[in-house]
Amino acid sequence: MRLVILGGPGAGKGTQAQLLCSDLSIPLLAVGDILRGAIASETDLGKLAMPYVETGELVPDAAMIQFFRQRLLLWDVFNGWVLEGYPRTAFQAEELDFLLDDLAQQLDWAIWLKVPTEVLLSRSIERDRSDDSPEILQRRLDLYHEQTIPILDYYEHRNKLLIINGDQPPEKVQQDILKIVNSH
Ligand code: AMP
Repeated sequence: MRLVILGGPGAGKGTQAQLLCSDLSIPLLAVGDILRGAIASETDLGKLAMPYVETGELVPDAAMIQFFRQRLLLWDVFNGWVLEGYPRTAFQAEELDFLLDDLAQQLDWAIWLKVPTEVLLSRSIERDRSDDSPEILQRRLDLYHEQTIPILDYYEHRNKLLIINGDQPPEKVQQDILKIVNSH
């Protein structure tokens, strides 16, 4: 199973992606975590990404796509995976499809955790991440609406979009995802 998890900051992407990976026994590629790790260990990717991550901007598509292509090619995983935090722009979504074509693979589903903006805000304010300060959070929310929401149409046109109510307790969200994924 090849799955993408989409949602705004605080939507529960990380939690649900981890639960799905253990339920389905497939690996997780969490791009935000990889970028934070790269920043902490001061790799080339980390140095490039740092000014963007710290201010809530998106790392430019060209750099992300190159990084992601290398990562997926290196990552010799044919049984499937869960991607969290990628794609985040329509361009990344298209490039992901090109890359999967090259690998003769196909995405199964893009799962959108639908959560009202006021809930995203209150959840993000409660967690303790440096890019969750009010101004940066607002920027991340704006970018989510401008850049990531359009991806929903992209996947809907390809009959790949599953919409899940993310404004529920995590266990219920997990159950809903498994139910819908297993019934298709
Ligand atoms: P996240 O943990 O998914 O909220 O990501 C944290 C930060 O990493 C984002 O605010 C961006 O600066 C950067 N980032 C993560 N994924 C991407 C992506 N697919 N494209 C560009 N920037 C990204």
